[in-house]
Amino acid sequence: MGMTTSASVPTGSKAAIAGGTVTDRLVEANERYADAFADPGMDARPVLHVAVVACMDARLDLHAALGLELGDCHTIRNAGGVVTDDVIRSLTISQRKLGTRSIVLIHHTGCGLEAITEDFRTELEMEVGQRPAWAVEAFRDVDQDVRQSMQRVRTSPFLVHTDDVRGFVFDVKTGLLREVDPA
Ligand SMILES: [Zn+2]
Repeated sequence: MGMTTSASVPTGSKAAIAGGTVTDRLVEANERYADAFADPGMDARPVLHVAVVACMDARLDLHAALGLELGDCHTIRNAGGVVTDDVIRSLTISQRKLGTRSIVLIHHTGCGLEAITEDFRTELEMEVGQRPAWAVEAFRDVDQDVRQSMQRVRTSPFLVHTDDVRGFVFDVKTGLLREVDPA
């Protein structure tokens, strides 16, 4: 039976993990992948010279949604798709060592970071006795957070290409991207 994406056949995915751990399932899938895999013979520099920073949300299939193929881009993902110091680290290496020039930032509708606040850090501290050093990066206005992310990229002293930075909100119900006006 052919399986497309976990979004279209959620019961199939659930059935597939019934016999073992989810990691076992992934390793088995990798064996099938490697059987059909042919070395594309490409180097590590992204063909389209673009880095995409996006939320880790499971409903966002970046390659499918953007028509990307193997080798086309760098994908940098975290909770919210926010531009943290570690994202700047990856973008800096992407631009300075691997030749990317464009940056695409993608947040999405219904993000989990809209449902929590910075109080999450206090909750963690109460539970485990230690306050995380990192900010939660929670937000209320997704457009404003995309603007904030664009601003962090544009003002980074480490990046060499900040003229082509665009930000979007992906609608998880329609699959459409909506561009956010940077102003
Ligand atoms: Zn999200």
